[in-house]
Amino acid sequence: MNRPDDTHESTTCPGCRAVLPRSEWPGDAKYNASAECLEVAGELLGYEVEHAAQLGYLHQLRIDAYGAQHVTPDAPRIGRVFALNGLYMYLERGSGNLDVRTAHGIMANSYDDWPAMTPPEQVGRLTAYDVLLADDVESALISWAREVWESWPPEDQEIIRKLTIELVPEKYFRR
Ligand SMILES: [Zn+2]
Repeated sequence: MNRPDDTHESTTCPGCRAVLPRSEWPGDAKYNASAECLEVAGELLGYEVEHAAQLGYLHQLRIDAYGAQHVTPDAPRIGRVFALNGLYMYLERGSGNLDVRTAHGIMANSYDDWPAMTPPEQVGRLTAYDVLLADDVESALISWAREVWESWPPEDQEIIRKLTIELVPEKYFRR
């Protein structure tokens, strides 16, 4: 591992490519992310909790944007399908937190032949770190989620649209 920015002082996140100062954060094998990026994700959660009245409605979107940007290639397929489903439902259907969580529950109980989808080389340019540092975290978070969704191949987006419409009752869509 001799990539130029993998020095003793910084690491590059394999999911979002954020270059961050090395930390002692323990990490989480669930995500294809550097320990430092996971620490940032934790800080973004903390910021959301502190500003819940303004940002609470983006709770699930934040989780799904991070999940779809940090897919471990050999992780169970359902994880990326759910993350992309959440992005689709918020961005294209106007669904809220509870709609998406309900949809995930319905999907988990009604289907198990999840499609194989490989993340693109670059999953959006914005990162959780950019969102955390933004003057307007709310709009940065939505831009980040949109970039992540739009970076996935159109054929994968179409699979998610079709699968969601097939499995999830329309009342969980807001438009
Ligand atoms: Zn990352």
